[in-house]
Amino acid sequence: MISGDARLKNGPSVSEPISMADTRTTEVLVIGAGPGGYEAAIRAAQLGKKVLVIERENLGGVCLNVGCIPSKALIHAAKRVVEIRHAADLGITTGPVSVDVKKLQAWKRGVVDGLTGGIAQLFKANKVDWIQGTATFTAKDAVSVRGADGKETNVRFQNAIVATGSRPIEIPGFKFDRRTVIDSTGALDLEEAPKKLVVIGGGFIGLEIGQTMRRLGSEVTVVEAMDQILPGQDPDLVRVLARALQKEGIRILTGAKAKGLEPQKDGSVQVVIEAKGAEERLPADKVLVSVGRRPNTESLGLDKAGVKVTPKGLVETNDKAQTSVATIYAIGDITPGPALAHKASKEGLTAAAVIAGDKGAALDYRALPWAVFTDPEIATVGLTEAQAREKGLDPVVGRFPFAASGRAKSTQATDGFVKVVADKKTDLLLGVHIIGPEASNLIAEAALAIEMGATAHDLALTIHTHPTLPEALMEAAEGVHGRMIHAVNRS
Ligand code: FAD
Repeated sequence: MISGDARLKNGPSVSEPISMADTRTTEVLVIGAGPGGYEAAIRAAQLGKKVLVIERENLGGVCLNVGCIPSKALIHAAKRVVEIRHAADLGITTGPVSVDVKKLQAWKRGVVDGLTGGIAQLFKANKVDWIQGTATFTAKDAVSVRGADGKETNVRFQNAIVATGSRPIEIPGFKFDRRTVIDSTGALDLEEAPKKLVVIGGGFIGLEIGQTMRRLGSEVTVVEAMDQILPGQDPDLVRVLARALQKEGIRILTGAKAKGLEPQKDGSVQVVIEAKGAEERLPADKVLVSVGRRPNTESLGLDKAGVKVTPKGLVETNDKAQTSVATIYAIGDITPGPALAHKASKEGLTAAAVIAGDKGAALDYRALPWAVFTDPEIATVGLTEAQAREKGLDPVVGRFPFAASGRAKSTQATDGFVKVVADKKTDLLLGVHIIGPEASNLIAEAALAIEMGATAHDLALTIHTHPTLPEALMEAAEGVHGRMIHAVNRS
């Protein structure tokens, strides 16, 4: 699992992995240094605990090394390409636009290295020790750690926080070969945009990478088995995104099942799909399979510790992030719920607080935001209208289009809208759903409002800077009461 590069990447210059000769004891053991584990470790140390982290690969986990950060770096670059191509609309003259993907990748690696190196510094500053190795439970208060050099170390702990994350799911007929059939990690490392890319899975990872590759020059087809991309999300938002992606030339096939691969003589493949009873063959140089992720729990020895695991390999926890063994906590992608970095971090901070004796610390997912960094972006928090009805509530909706926002108009980003869902009886904010420019940033105000128990009236009464995109939230909140100024209110 541990490559030479991976072993050297984070540590030596700032925070050396400690020597592994002895049996060690610690108050808090953290397994995995992704956004769940590293934040939990730092917080537990800040709260006065002696903390030891075991990480088998790189500090920062999936998110910083092969997930959130590198994907957003490439998305940023691809968006600049589009902006430059459309600069002529604003009277700005440019020459032909080309992208040196190798150079772009080097820049991206610099971004990642800066952040992961920063974690080593933060560990040092907070007196968090760490070992590079793979941890396996041997008892409910002990793990064995196999280091990169093959040495075994036993660690005894009072409390453990398990944060071992997840990995991409492979599907039959599409074995990852890292050459033609790739996962998100492989796709984010491509040194040139493939001529023809087929993306299997229309979830957020497939769409973000698919749109990026389209903008870097690939022909892209997205194959999704369900009847819409981003299955389960509000169809009103998804419709706007699907239209925008198709306008860029991305082919989207929904209700389509990927059945297998037919290798071609020139090294490319044909992806065989079945849609509406008919078979089709899609030519591809690369096939990105992004159909979901599997928790890294099967080789952890959780049974030796007595921790219960679901048939899907997930570890269920209570609202204190405790597993079936009260001294062992589980956080992040190995627990049920959406696989998101900020969910992992919140769970980690909560586990650390509980361990340090904070009796009030508990998880509450009412205000858990979620963002898709496509262009336009989607971001949501709280309940949709349909979910509110399922809960027996009586929701009222205010909807404000970005086409009516001065800021959106003057920055050429008028696709989309803000939808505010409030409870008719109490006016409490139940959810906010955005598709449009900067949705991932705009959702923060909505999350805070829901977290604070604000009403739609509170959001509408808050003075917003003009001209800014958050004014659209204020207007949508006014819309709940039929009082939007810059759009027509429907009674
Ligand atoms: P991870 O980040 O997976 O870290 C787990 C760590 O545990 C790893 O470093 C692993 O090496 C280590 N480990 C595993 N087993 C052992 C063991 N036995 N011993 C020692 N160490 C072990 N989320 C967002 O919120 N926003 C985004 O924009 C976003 N974009 C994404 C883009 C992509 C392409 C991908 C793949 C994911 C993205 N995610 C995003 C999801 C996000 O990366 C994960 O939800 C997050 O990393 C989960 O954090 P974690 O701490 O649970 O685990």
